[in-house]
Amino acid sequence: MTNSYSSLGQIRDGIAQEGLTVVKLVNGYLDKIWANTHLNAFNEVFADEALAAAVFVDERVKAGTAGKLAGMVIAIKDNICYKGHKVSASSKILENFTSIYSSTVVERLLAEDAVIIGRCNCDEFAMGASNENSFFGPARNFADEKRVPGGSSGGSAVAVQAGMCHAAIGTDTGGSVRQPASFCGVIGLKPTYGRISRHGIIAYASSFDQVGPITRSVADSALLLEVMAGPDEYDSTLINRTAKELRSVVSDPSPKKIAYLQEAISSPGVDSEVKNNLVKYIEKLRAAGHTVKPIAFDLLEYLVPTYYILAMAEASSNLSRYDGVHYGYRSPAAVDLVSTYKRSRSEGFGKEVKRRIMLGTFVLSAGYYDAYFAKAQKVRRMIREQTNAILKEYDFILTPTAPETAFEIGKGPKDPVVTYLADIFTVQASLTGAPAISLPTGNNSKGLPLGLQLVARHFEERELLDFSKYFLEL
Ligand code: GLN
Repeated sequence: MTNSYSSLGQIRDGIAQEGLTVVKLVNGYLDKIWANTHLNAFNEVFADEALAAAVFVDERVKAGTAGKLAGMVIAIKDNICYKGHKVSASSKILENFTSIYSSTVVERLLAEDAVIIGRCNCDEFAMGASNENSFFGPARNFADEKRVPGGSSGGSAVAVQAGMCHAAIGTDTGGSVRQPASFCGVIGLKPTYGRISRHGIIAYASSFDQVGPITRSVADSALLLEVMAGPDEYDSTLINRTAKELRSVVSDPSPKKIAYLQEAISSPGVDSEVKNNLVKYIEKLRAAGHTVKPIAFDLLEYLVPTYYILAMAEASSNLSRYDGVHYGYRSPAAVDLVSTYKRSRSEGFGKEVKRRIMLGTFVLSAGYYDAYFAKAQKVRRMIREQTNAILKEYDFILTPTAPETAFEIGKGPKDPVVTYLADIFTVQASLTGAPAISLPTGNNSKGLPLGLQLVARHFEERELLDFSKYFLEL
């Protein structure tokens, strides 16, 4: 069973001892992909190309010249540019757009002999938390096909969950790697802002966007992070640090100080099984000798509004480039410049993207800039300061990744504000830039995955991953 390896280490052992080849692996994943096309996890599968690449990697393995990721067959979210391949951000406006260069992350993955098997479905321009905002229709959760996989990197999480690839690369602006990982029972890491280059990633909200791995093991998260991280002349927000030290993850049982949000247990908005799971882990951690304490976070109610004001403002600016002239879709009904802009954008963008462009433009408009955008920037700073103060005293903040488990397709809240509120636990790390991980912690009574999130100090991914490994062994 090629799909049952939980880490690249196991695959490498299989290659060394059992005659496993990368070609066999790719064929195994392709079988799974073709058997599960109804899950709609992929916007495109690079079948022939992945097989050809696998032959090449097998040769390099034999010759002893293979890179660190030889044997790693990955899928990429469809907002990550890969030269010569289509990239759509699951939007009609980019439906037939082909990347003219590769993102830095793709270059780094390929340079270490990863095989890229396809591009995965997601919410349009990564805006959403259920994958239902995709122009190509929703992806489905492998644990229950009536349900969403989460979003926006929903297809990527399903692809890993269902064994269609070994790992996937997503992007996380306000939770888009962590929340679908939580809904699909896999591991999702959002690194520190500034850790991984955003060059060649289709921008949503640039001061939040980060690339992150979705994997079945903490060791693979660490390895993928190490390969993708580090300075890049094309992204000036990168911090000049290498991530060499990340590679070997060691389960860290040493006593830790962990904070959890009291509201995660007391709030009526959090599902009771999600709460019970949090309480169970708090007790496990205490029994193992860790200090686990509730904290009050005064700015809790401002997290979601601050995130959405800023993310929408940045999105309205980033998405102005899709004008029917420079990129992608141009309305056939356009007759002059203004109608080219208006019609191409009206026909090319979906409903949620339009909502966000309009709201973002509003909060940036001259009359409302101070009341919304400038205010939200100030609140972001306060959130960052308060969060950093907590992380000075505590090693990690523990929360559920999401207040609920995977819900049925089409049955999510109709009110967008209620949908946005479900990002309450993930946006704190996005607003502050801190690294955070979603860890699978079993299933609820309906067999749906339950995820817990750990947030760490800036650039302490090593500590976060070592502790995560231990946490999953608890
Ligand atoms: N659900 C959040 C949003 O819609 C997060 C999305 C993301 O991280 N890309 O903005």
